[in-house]
Amino acid sequence: MARKTRLTDPQDRRLRRIAREKGLVCPDCGSSEPVSKEGGELKDRPDGGLEVPVRCEACDGTSEMALVLSPEEAEALGFHSLGWSPETT
Ligand SMILES: [Zn+2]
Repeated sequence: MARKTRLTDPQDRRLRRIAREKGLVCPDCGSSEPVSKEGGELKDRPDGGLEVPVRCEACDGTSEMALVLSPEEAEALGFHSLGWSPETT
């Protein structure tokens, strides 16, 4: 089951902050302010974390990037409260 990213503004702001704290930068232009990719597909990680697809706003680049969230960070962003639960398969 594919789950798409659709973040609220507060979630997006927190996501950006986490991306900065983690030092995620665009491989194309070096911008350190990736934004969540609308309609991207979230990926569960075996450790309970989550991978959120992001894109670069500065250069609108084509590079695929993913922000890896720990289970705690995913929880703090409210992903689980949106009805998204880990894959059961
Ligand atoms: Zn860029």
